[in-house]
Amino acid sequence: MHEWALAESIITTAVEVAEREKLKKIEEIDISLGELQQIEEDIFRFALDEILKSMNLRNIKIVIETENAVFECNKCKHTWNFEKDKLDEAEAEAIHFLPEMAFVHMRCPSCGSPDFTVIKGRGVSITSIKGEK
Ligand SMILES: [Zn+2]
Repeated sequence: MHEWALAESIITTAVEVAEREKLKKIEEIDISLGELQQIEEDIFRFALDEILKSMNLRNIKIVIETENAVFECNKCKHTWNFEKDKLDEAEAEAIHFLPEMAFVHMRCPSCGSPDFTVIKGRGVSITSIKGEK
């Protein structure tokens, strides 16, 4: 379950940053979750809560924002978003569980090339940490 590993690394990073910034306590952690990241948000949130509790860190608000995927065509440099409604349900589901499927089904909407790069929407990162100094 990589939600747990991910949650742990987020908390560890947040604590390190808080120490470096000399925060007396962390009040809020904002997290950006890539749309193509294979993460169950409920499990992720639960893992974060449990890890915080186990470290005796309480009353920390966790804000999770989804980062929409952005693709860039390697041929014509056109960029576009992931449009779920253009896929049928089975495909959308497949992509949810296996983001690599996006590469199988998608083409550049401008030139039709299947050669593109995911420039946004992958990975998980901390966007901000708020706390008391
Ligand atoms: Zn193109």
